[in-house]
Amino acid sequence: MIRRRAALALPALLLLPRAAAALEWRGEAAQGGLLIGRAAPGTRLMLEGRAVRVGSSGEFVLGFGRDHGPEAVLAITPPGGGRPVQQRIAVARRDWDVQHITGLPPAQVTPDAEALARITAERARLAAARALDSALLEFTRGFAWPARGRISGIYGSQRVLNGQPRQPHYGLDVAAPTGTPVAAAAAGRVSLAGDYFFFGRLLVLDHGHGVNTLYAHLSAVDVPEGAAVAAGQRIGAIGATGRVTGPHLHFGLSWYQTWLDPQRLLPVVQG
Ligand SMILES: [Zn+2]
Repeated sequence: MIRRRAALALPALLLLPRAAAALEWRGEAAQGGLLIGRAAPGTRLMLEGRAVRVGSSGEFVLGFGRDHGPEAVLAITPPGGGRPVQQRIAVARRDWDVQHITGLPPAQVTPDAEALARITAERARLAAARALDSALLEFTRGFAWPARGRISGIYGSQRVLNGQPRQPHYGLDVAAPTGTPVAAAAAGRVSLAGDYFFFGRLLVLDHGHGVNTLYAHLSAVDVPEGAAVAAGQRIGAIGATGRVTGPHLHFGLSWYQTWLDPQRLLPVVQG
């Protein structure tokens, strides 16, 4: 069983001017990072001009992409209204690896026109699933490793496939034999199940407030779209479907359309 929960970073308390509501959160504001926090119920938050969902008990989450700049501005309107307070958040910069992968079939590195049409349609379906803005609060309960195995790829690496630069790697790869169980990293609802050109057989789980996890290259998918899943529940098995050089799980984490670093939310040691 893989049930151990993430040991979250030390909680940081952010105190705002007396007139405004206090926010608290855990996690570190860094490129690829996710902050999970709580505000006074009824607080309204805007991150860089975009409304952030605040739960009935004040729960909220903020994500920062791989290439986020050094600062983010959070506008905080206290319960009952009034002038928003502008809170500047320093977003730590990170260095990224370069990963060379060779031996991929050329048609998977440079897809033909037919494949490109398929890829475009699949991207739209994936984006729609990740755009879900549900009131679920499962993201507040921590995340566990979805599979055991060797880490064969990390978030943020610049990818060079068969010698050609491609977009960065936006997930965590766990290599293990085909058939190795894959578990839900947290409770949630299956928002997408499919068989995609790059990701192969995949699942996306919605954990609420735009927080999603992606499980790709699966050999088996055990849960249908719409199903509720428990934390640690088996949802599929590791495989080698899609664009791969061997069996592994590609595990992705996103906040709406922004891919984040899943490893920052996981315990240091695999369950
Ligand atoms: Zn991957």
